[in-house]
Amino acid sequence: MKKAKDIINDINLTRIVMALAALLSLIAICLVVTRHTPSQKHAQQEHSSVVSVASGDTLSGLLLAQGLTHNDVNEIASVLKKEAGIAGLRAERDKLEFVRPNGNAPVSKIVVVPSPWRQVNLTCDESGSWKCETVDVERDTRAVWRSGEILDGDSFYLAGQRAGIPAGILIDVYDLLAFEMDFERDVRAGQKFWVLYEENFSDGNKIDNGNVLAVSFQALRGNVQMYRFKKSDGTIGYYDENGNGAIKSLKRTPINNAKITSNFSKKRKHPVLGFTRAHKGVDFRAPTGTPIPAAGAGRVIARSYNRGHGNFVKIRHNGSFETLYAHMSRFAKGVNVGTNVRQGQIIGYAGSTGYSTGPHLHYEIIKDGVHVNPMTVKLPAISNLGKADKKKFLEYREVLDDGIKKLERHPSLYIQL
Ligand SMILES: [Zn+2]
Repeated sequence: MKKAKDIINDINLTRIVMALAALLSLIAICLVVTRHTPSQKHAQQEHSSVVSVASGDTLSGLLLAQGLTHNDVNEIASVLKKEAGIAGLRAERDKLEFVRPNGNAPVSKIVVVPSPWRQVNLTCDESGSWKCETVDVERDTRAVWRSGEILDGDSFYLAGQRAGIPAGILIDVYDLLAFEMDFERDVRAGQKFWVLYEENFSDGNKIDNGNVLAVSFQALRGNVQMYRFKKSDGTIGYYDENGNGAIKSLKRTPINNAKITSNFSKKRKHPVLGFTRAHKGVDFRAPTGTPIPAAGAGRVIARSYNRGHGNFVKIRHNGSFETLYAHMSRFAKGVNVGTNVRQGQIIGYAGSTGYSTGPHLHYEIIKDGVHVNPMTVKLPAISNLGKADKKKFLEYREVLDDGIKKLERHPSLYIQL
């Protein structure tokens, strides 16, 4: 008989699941234990064929080719739209499965798979009418941990890629850290970081990545740490290690990873005008056409042109803050005075209009009518935790931190959620 240690060595380490799920579910949070149930095999000898939707294919064309009548086609199209919200097929992405009770019988069931996590079953009953049922595909979610270090001449993005963090997750991490960090000034060689994020599996195959669950970065101003947490009212947010809201009402740097070319200062020699005057914002280098997201949710109070700012947009946010974005090449469609915008919504595109030496974004934050330094102003959190939620968060964080400590020692393991 093999010793336990040998067996563990035999099952490649990457296959070992950490038994954290039970602990995590005990404290009734967003983590759910999923159990895999084998799909039931049909007893009858059904006949099934799968058709991949190609460019130029239409739903009616594909259905008629399977011997369905025009009446069937109309009914199926209407039931799909009404019950499953599917109005058309996507070429090179969607697949249709046609099932017949036997090889010669008419189609009695059609399976449409609009996403890896959703399956729509259309079945024909004895009276000949079609019914639609949507089934959520069971997913097996694992939390994986990746860590990296900034090297000389590195960017966070390069270091993240080297650490094996997928591009989509890195973009989410950027968006989160941008509330606390300035990637231009806070990133130095030797800094370490890690990310805990979800990978979704179906039948043992990885399908896609999920959410960022926690992130840590050794910034110059101190360690920045954030955790994803679901409040008792169901809203999900990110919080620092003490349970303070990590998502701020405004972003210091609306464009991720943009180099600062000129800082906020009370006195600066103007590059175009030549004389000394205050620089009331921060300049970010950005090629013409770079999308400019709103730093926070708010209402557009100006969308205009003047000689200094060129094309600019000004947004009033909740509370006492306003932001201004200047030198745009053009405005985003649908953004007008009075438009309510979301945080991150594209309001315009970088350019060099007005007094400007080259394409860049000039970004200002105005607090109670006074221009403030976007890099240092204290920004309010969007959502803080109440007493009860804070207690739950701290318990959750402790459990998660324990798991993360184990992953630090064995990075090829994962947490089963
Ligand atoms: Zn400027």
